[in-house]
Amino acid sequence: MDNSDLIIHELICISCPMGCHLKIRQRERSWLVSGNRCPRGETYGIQEMTDPRRIITTTVRVRGGVRPVVSVKTSQPVPKAKVFEVIRELAQLEFNAPIQAGEVLFSNLLGLGADILATRSVEAQGKNQTESRAKTNAAFPVTNGIA
Ligand code: SF4
Repeated sequence: MDNSDLIIHELICISCPMGCHLKIRQRERSWLVSGNRCPRGETYGIQEMTDPRRIITTTVRVRGGVRPVVSVKTSQPVPKAKVFEVIRELAQLEFNAPIQAGEVLFSNLLGLGADILATRSVEAQGKNQTESRAKTNAAFPVTNGIA
């Protein structure tokens, strides 16, 4: 068998803490994954070769909250090539407190199909502000760096 056109990739599966060492043999557009202890490893290996994606976790600014920022994550993996673009976009936004863990702060960011979810709650700074909070938690572009 001629292996001159066979390309071998090695990577670690990050789908669970086992961290299996995957070996992916590529011949043109076909892939053969080995080293995986479960089917998720094969799916992950092929996805990494064809369309690598990542869940993004970061923080965004909060307006009128007991904390200045809240931790967030994307609701689904986004293309790896778009990660820095998403982080840059999130750095331009701030959101009204109060914020509830699990709340969708922004839908379909950059048209990638992923929503931005709060991963913890942030209370508003005082009862009056809580009561006056708009129903829609609109995002405000930060233009001068001052909340
Ligand atoms: S191949 Fe399966 S067992 Fe191994 S790290 Fe990936 S998900 Fe975990």
